[in-house]
Amino acid sequence: PTANAPLLRADGVSIQFGGLKALTDFHLSIQQGDLQGLIGPNGAGKSTAFNVLTGVYQPSQGDVRVCDTKVNGRKPHQINLLGVARTFQNIRLFRALTALDNVKVACRAQTALHQFDTGLVAKLKNASHNYADWWRALLLTPGFQREERRLTEQAEHLLSVMGLSHRRDEEARNLPYGEQRRLEIARALGTQPRVLLLDEPAAGMNTREKADLMVLIRKLRDDFKLGVLVIEHDMKLVMGICEQITVLDHGETIARGAPAQVRSDRKVIEAYLGD
Ligand code: ADP
Ligand code: MG
Repeated sequence: PTANAPLLRADGVSIQFGGLKALTDFHLSIQQGDLQGLIGPNGAGKSTAFNVLTGVYQPSQGDVRVCDTKVNGRKPHQINLLGVARTFQNIRLFRALTALDNVKVACRAQTALHQFDTGLVAKLKNASHNYADWWRALLLTPGFQREERRLTEQAEHLLSVMGLSHRRDEEARNLPYGEQRRLEIARALGTQPRVLLLDEPAAGMNTREKADLMVLIRKLRDDFKLGVLVIEHDMKLVMGICEQITVLDHGETIARGAPAQVRSDRKVIEAYLGD
């Protein structure tokens, strides 16, 4: 890959749903160290942009690239393996798993054991009468136990980074809403991304929690050497932490630039007034 190729890039990406142009000629480029904002009124196309960038939707036009590699047509988990992690506007946790296990599942996705597991699971399916024996044998191997310990430590560290150590053994569904949102970020970090996409991470939080989260996001960017793109409906909130902001309205990019520049843009003001 070229030395300065962006970690993640969208080149003229468009997508339609029936007659609706959800995203039109969308361009974006994220480098390590970036903390960018993606804003716009409801229905502007922000989540759609994330879905195209992460392989949930295929663009009808344009390209998505990770570093220099074109990833059009790849599945979300393949794009995740290339270092792009995200959270969802509607929280998607394994509700009945503990906070720790939610993060461990993500950490595991990056390990060799996971590859090993895949083969094993196939074997297990073929020999279902032996399922319990297979499983027991695997759990007892020293390599597996060492790997489990390593994953546990990694997940514990991420819980601590997100201020969730005290919730380690609680089921995700029992966590207060704001903590579920932070757990989703811990889980995204578990896949060891280089790019982190956060879809309204502060939604449903109170003013204080929102402000704290924004500071934490900046710290994650620095500590994990990430490029970060945050979707946020609240303009003031993103303006406070992002260096570059892209504004969508009806799928079109109506402004891009530094917060001060974007804030005083006539088209942006109009879009938000009409919201
Ligand atoms: P935002 O996140 O900015 O609020 P979205 O990206 O979720 O907006 O939606 C943009 C537009 O695309 C909306 O009009 C929405 O209804 C539409 N849309 C999003 N996903 C789909 C889909 N899978 N099928 C049909 N329409 C969709
Ligand atoms: Mg959205």
